[in-house]
Amino acid sequence: MPENVREEAAAAQEQTSRFVSQYAPATPEADAPPAEPIFDVRDVAVFYGEHRAVTDITLELRRNQITALIGPSGCGKSTFIRCLNRMNDLIQSARVEGEVIYHDQDLYDDRIDPVQVRKRIGMVFQKPNPFPKSIYDNIAFGPRVVGMKGDMDEIVESALRRAVLWDDVKDRLKTNAFGMSGGQQQRLCIARALATDPDVLLMDEPCSALDPISTGRIEDLMLELKSNYSIVIVTHNMQQAARVSNMTAFFTVELDAGEKHRTGRVVEFAATDKIFTNPDDKRTEDYVTGKVG
Ligand code: ADP
Repeated sequence: MPENVREEAAAAQEQTSRFVSQYAPATPEADAPPAEPIFDVRDVAVFYGEHRAVTDITLELRRNQITALIGPSGCGKSTFIRCLNRMNDLIQSARVEGEVIYHDQDLYDDRIDPVQVRKRIGMVFQKPNPFPKSIYDNIAFGPRVVGMKGDMDEIVESALRRAVLWDDVKDRLKTNAFGMSGGQQQRLCIARALATDPDVLLMDEPCSALDPISTGRIEDLMLELKSNYSIVIVTHNMQQAARVSNMTAFFTVELDAGEKHRTGRVVEFAATDKIFTNPDDKRTEDYVTGKVG
């Protein structure tokens, strides 16, 4: 390896390690009992029509942890995260093989109602996507759809408080959500997901449309929320993965056996500091040190 490349790689790794040691909440204590599994994903593959987009995904996601999914574009991170709350059901050509066990239940069992699944496993997307309604109605929408019992004002206030948004908006609950800043809109979307009392939050690049200050707020919020929720985040920002997550799955994408299509798979799944400072697989190391992207 040329000396300058070696130096750059070492500098990148150093910088990431610094982030890990500075911020990581993160790695489970070596002697602590492992947290309870929430998802047991066994040998999952997702197809779009004939195209196998991701394959061989086997991993366990645990309670009160933040799990980051990282890897180059097109390696199937979004496709995989959508398996965790049956969002792929909404894409006509998509088909999921394998098992996604959620609290000992097969999420893809015919008897499971996907609407109830999405109540327990909420999702926040890349671009804030509030409904063209008031702040109040954005939050009340989900609880109304799933027929949640209780005082709606209290449900709305509680969700906004959990997303640390209440003080910003309590005097303008009836105004249109589009009047909020981008960062506030994303926290509104988080509050909307929290309103149906989920136990898992899925976040697909939740900060990629936000400025650094709003990004910092969302990261702080995630660290606060993880004491009550389990979080899975897709991120392109490796420093973000290092700052917030306990566990990281590194995906890659390779030509499949027939050399016709590119198929994503998980190369390595481990504690975040291991992935960033001492990964087992050379492909992980090359990615996290910025040698390939
Ligand atoms: P990532 O999130 O890692 O960038 P994606 O999950 O978006 O990757 O994409 C993985 C593969 O699946 C890509 O080849 C992409 O073109 C394909 N894909 C994603 N969404 C769809 C879809 N709705 N229909 C068909 N193919 C899709």
